[in-house]
Amino acid sequence: MRLILLGPPGAGKGTQAQRLVEKYGIVQLSTGDMLRAAVAAGTPVGLKAKDIMAAGGLVPDDVVVDIIADRIEQPDAANGFILDGFPRTVPQAAALDELLKRKKMKLDAVVELRVNEGALLQRVENRAAETRARGEEVRADDTPEVLAKRLASYRAQTEPLIDYYSERRSLLTVDGMMSIDGVTEEISRVLSAIGAGAKGPAKAARGSSNGTRTAAKVARKPAKAASKAKKAASKAGKKAAKKAKKPAKAARKAAKGAKKAARKTARKPARATKGKGGRKASKPAKKVTKKRAKR
Ligand code: AMP
Repeated sequence: MRLILLGPPGAGKGTQAQRLVEKYGIVQLSTGDMLRAAVAAGTPVGLKAKDIMAAGGLVPDDVVVDIIADRIEQPDAANGFILDGFPRTVPQAAALDELLKRKKMKLDAVVELRVNEGALLQRVENRAAETRARGEEVRADDTPEVLAKRLASYRAQTEPLIDYYSERRSLLTVDGMMSIDGVTEEISRVLSAIGAGAKGPAKAARGSSNGTRTAAKVARKPAKAASKAKKAASKAGKKAAKKAKKPAKAARKAAKGAKKAARKTARKPARATKGKGGRKASKPAKKVTKKRAKR
């Protein structure tokens, strides 16, 4: 399975990515983590990224695209991956499309964690406090001032990706304001609804486009559409869907027949009274028809 987790800083991408890693046996590829490691190691990429990251800006597209291009080719990513924090700009998304196409890899879904911006500062403060409590070093960019800049970068450069992926019908939107467990459950639910939850090696590029269509529906109305799609998906693809149509057809036919019979029955007393009372006598018949139709 190959996924992208999309959402502003503090949306819970990292937390959810770790859970997905365990659940699906895939790797988490966080460009933020990789860049932080590069900064810590003092590599040329790290030297380039250090100040930009500390200021809450975005590292140049070519730098992160190169990192990802190398990383997705590693053997541990063969089973699939979750991109956390990448892509962050439309050019990065376009470069990723190209990259995947070249490598004949298919993206299963883009999961957007939708959160209330007001809650983000609190979340980032909590994250910093938890990190401190564990005795670990707090991220230099997890401060209110830098968060404001990271949010501005997100709005200007990353948010357009929501349209980018919804136009390509691969976006799944999940309410990121629920509890951590709630979000995890919802992600699993929408993924299985599009048939992306199954374990096993990641699919090659020429997979069915059916799943992405379902994903678009799910994105428009997460809970309702997802449960509907889940039912359809559980019937395992087109074959089952075809079969499913037959009973539906039969049911329609039966309903049509029943309606006809109801009309006939309703007409009978009308005709019987018509002889006596003319037009007026047909009124009760209409009522009967209405009542029956309601039932
Ligand atoms: P994150 O851990 O995802 O919040 O990323 C931390 C910082 O790393 C960001 O604020 C950026 O400065 C940089 N960064 C991470 N991913 C990207 C990316 N895809 N494109 C540009 N900059 C990135």
